[in-house]
Amino acid sequence: MCIFCDIVNNRAKSYKIYENNKTLAFLDIHPISYGHILIIPKNHYENIYEMDNDILTEIIKTVKTVTELLKENMGINAVNIINSNGKIANQTVFHYHMHVIPRRENDNLDFIHEWWVNKLIKMDNDILSEIMNKLKN
Ligand code: AMP
Ligand code: ZN
Repeated sequence: MCIFCDIVNNRAKSYKIYENNKTLAFLDIHPISYGHILIIPKNHYENIYEMDNDILTEIIKTVKTVTELLKENMGINAVNIINSNGKIANQTVFHYHMHVIPRRENDNLDFIHEWWVNKLIKMDNDILSEIMNKLKN
């Protein structure tokens, strides 16, 4: 039982704004801002680790379409795009979804920016090199 699968199959109420064969975009029912939208694959994948490049490509194309709809119909020209994978990363619905969060002047959503300005970790060059060497192919 998955609430987003229920939305895809019209077994649960939702506010759909765009869909194609593989993906669906609908309103987040507890939005962070006016026009907050979720983009999901119609098939059930828990998170990015279960998805192949083709479906991820479809997701980002629908994200792009949604940003155009927000721009054309609401005049939105700033968005945060967020996707959480795994409980540790604060994922709460375990059907992959991308958040598109419209931003406006003085919208008091600067907590997103604060993640970047109040960074806890100060790293020296040795550690940055160590991380690069662990990850690069
Ligand atoms: P996350 O924390 O990234 O897993 O986000 C899950 C999001 O799904 C939250 O922002 C919820 O408000 C939203 N959500 C949960 N149930 C529904 C629903 N039935 N319809 C629309 N959005 C939902
Ligand atoms: Zn599902």
